Amino acid sequence: MTVPLPHPLDRPLADGQGRRITYLRLSLTDRCNFRCSYCATASPERRGEPLPLPHLARLASIFAGLGVRRIRLTGGEPTLRRDLIEIVEEVSHTPGIEEVALTTNGQALAELAAPLRAAGVRRLNVSLDTLRPATLARLAGGAASLERIRRGIEAAAAVGFDGLKLNTVVVRGENDGELGDLARFAWRVGATARFIELMPFGPGVPVPVAEVRRLLEAQGVRLAPDATRGWGPATHMRGASTVGGEAVGGLVGFIGALTENFCDGCNRIRVAADGALRPCLGGREGLPLRALLDAGATDREISAAIVGALAAKRPGHRMVEEAGQLPSMIGTGG
Ligand code: SAM
Ligand code: SF4
Repeated sequence: MTVPLPHPLDRPLADGQGRRITYLRLSLTDRCNFRCSYCATASPERRGEPLPLPHLARLASIFAGLGVRRIRLTGGEPTLRRDLIEIVEEVSHTPGIEEVALTTNGQALAELAAPLRAAGVRRLNVSLDTLRPATLARLAGGAASLERIRRGIEAAAAVGFDGLKLNTVVVRGENDGELGDLARFAWRVGATARFIELMPFGPGVPVPVAEVRRLLEAQGVRLAPDATRGWGPATHMRGASTVGGEAVGGLVGFIGALTENFCDGCNRIRVAADGALRPCLGGREGLPLRALLDAGATDREISAAIVGALAAKRPGHRMVEEAGQLPSMIGTGG
């Protein structure tokens, strides 16, 4: 008797290298109120309307059906979407989705932290590259307000998310002298401090994560091994320091896209603001999911297209080899 082979759509989603895909990063817009030098460099590929709520809800459900369990809403700046709270409610009520997370620049967080939490955001990442207003203006443009970001982070800490992380992209000569201060600030609001190696999507000189660890030690942070692993590629250490004689400490995360490559354990996929499925942030491949949605394709047809695109996912990113030719970070969603 011939035993039928399981159909690819009835198996958990995996890429061509056998890596299980459980994590979707969904970009809600390619627009942003900041102009971060390393991100908002090129115009996004297409300045069309971002995916409307029904398309986002449908994608959440299709990906959940394929085995995705966690969705991070990103951008551009997701808080620019007027229907953000409805999007969160819709996505977080999708059967199969266990966790909704969001990444923001923090500018609108003072007003939005509580509604986002109530709508279903479980984990929040806030980008914080500097505690110095002049550096912020240089890195993110004149619209960025440190005071508003700090108030937003404090509001998020008061609301109490399951996880709060402060993301710092380390840029040589800009913020590499304040890494200790950023870590101490994060711990005082109960957040994890996370340091990200600059990826080559724009100007700026990266600082390898090994050097970031040395700089932290030199700036008054004692680091000890820690086995914490989250959903993403970060490795962690336990940090300790003092502020005004008082002991502070907490987790520090490190993402070394270039020098501590994490592609072997990749569990993620992205949908860009223009509705393109992007199997890898550091690759040019894309599948225009929006065209399928607009054309009224069935869930099964869209699922089959996703499975097909993932089969071709490469073993590793090509950020260095293809620098300058990659789709923009602000469009794909970091
Ligand atoms: N606007 C939101 C924010 O800034 O948090 C969400 C979108 S942003 C593209 C997501 C993350 O990507 C942020 O933490 C940002 O710092 C990071 N990012 C952007 N460009 C980067 C680059 N060239 N290298 C490393 N990280 C980058
Ligand atoms: Fe905007 Fe975030 Fe990119 Fe900065 S990193 S330009 S805040 S999308």
